Amino acid sequence: MTMVATQPLTDTIAITRTFDGIEAAAHRVIAQAGGMASVVKDARIAVLKPNFVAGRSAETGSTTSFALLKAVAEEVRACGAEPVLCETPGTEFDREATYTILGVEKFCEENGIRIARVDPEGGEQDWLELKPSGAKRLRTFHKPKFMQDACYINLPVLKTHVVSAMTLSMKNTMGILPRPDRRSMHTFGIDQSIVDMNLGIKPDLIIVDGSVGQDGEGPLYGDKADLEVLIAGHNSLAVDLACCDLVGIKPRDIPHLKLALEQLGEPAWNVVGENPGLIKQFRLPEQKKLYRFIFWLMYPLDYPYTMLVERGKHFCTTLYGTGLVGNRPQIKEANCTHCGKCVEACPLPNVINLQTLKVNYKTCQRCLLCFEACPENAISVKGYSGLRQA
Ligand code: SF4
Ligand code: SF4
Repeated sequence: MTMVATQPLTDTIAITRTFDGIEAAAHRVIAQAGGMASVVKDARIAVLKPNFVAGRSAETGSTTSFALLKAVAEEVRACGAEPVLCETPGTEFDREATYTILGVEKFCEENGIRIARVDPEGGEQDWLELKPSGAKRLRTFHKPKFMQDACYINLPVLKTHVVSAMTLSMKNTMGILPRPDRRSMHTFGIDQSIVDMNLGIKPDLIIVDGSVGQDGEGPLYGDKADLEVLIAGHNSLAVDLACCDLVGIKPRDIPHLKLALEQLGEPAWNVVGENPGLIKQFRLPEQKKLYRFIFWLMYPLDYPYTMLVERGKHFCTTLYGTGLVGNRPQIKEANCTHCGKCVEACPLPNVINLQTLKVNYKTCQRCLLCFEACPENAISVKGYSGLRQA
């Protein structure tokens, strides 16, 4: 098999625990990994790419913590560059609603982080075409034009994933790509496409947020892992292998890491900071073939669908909007006292109708804050992607 020589010979991977707080740990791990100045160099912009895949808070282990982003933004500014956040959630979620649920706008405003709202549908004005040599399936894709002269800081979460088994740094870059490219990745085969994408977009720094992390049926509704760790490095594959070590996962059990090892070769790395060894033995998600097939099918069907509907609509958003799929809340009339706590907890307007006790699935973003807020256990969660309910 031909090896593509793309990885540096030896990476320095810094590992630190977050016992003294995520922010302090973030500053420490950046220093241990070589400091921010060597990342920013003379770039005017540093692109911060968190994992904001959906409106599930960092406390659930689904998304990148604000404390990590805050520390990174401070370090970037201290090096004379502007921190710019760029992230589009999964296609089945609305970007603005996700930002509202997570409080992204307010957080960024308070912390001097500009939000880059690139056209998620891939309009030419915002995107630069990439055709990395050695790509096998995803031969052409795009990154935002403004990233051309920027440095790229990837801030994924250490968690499992019902489709790709684990999502770490190699997969997190997907949120930078426009939706049509993500559709190609799913249609052509997600595992090889992740490897191909990493041939074209390489982070200058990666800090994996394992302050909580998620185990089991991640990336949204798995079990909180409470790992209390951050992992930083420069080589995505090396960082992901180091993460696997911390949670007892064999990298070759993760299809895209297996392909990356075969095609890019095994990277070498040194660990600095702490090396805690196994923090928690992770359980990978159950392989649900039917679920994976249906999830995959939404993407090829999206090609004809988008030709018929208005720009910005996708087959999966319409499908989730029917209320027939997805981990969605449902109110059990018999248990409900009409207290209104679910409506108060919902960050979006007019999603729950207290009179009819119906949820509007067209606008519901499946954050499950209503489910958590209900004192009467009157909300159940329907769906197939694994939430454990008491
Ligand atoms: S109805 Fe519930 S799950 Fe849907 S957006 Fe509101 S709080 Fe989140
Ligand atoms: S919080 Fe529970 S009991 Fe109260 S209105 Fe909502 S569903 Fe009904």
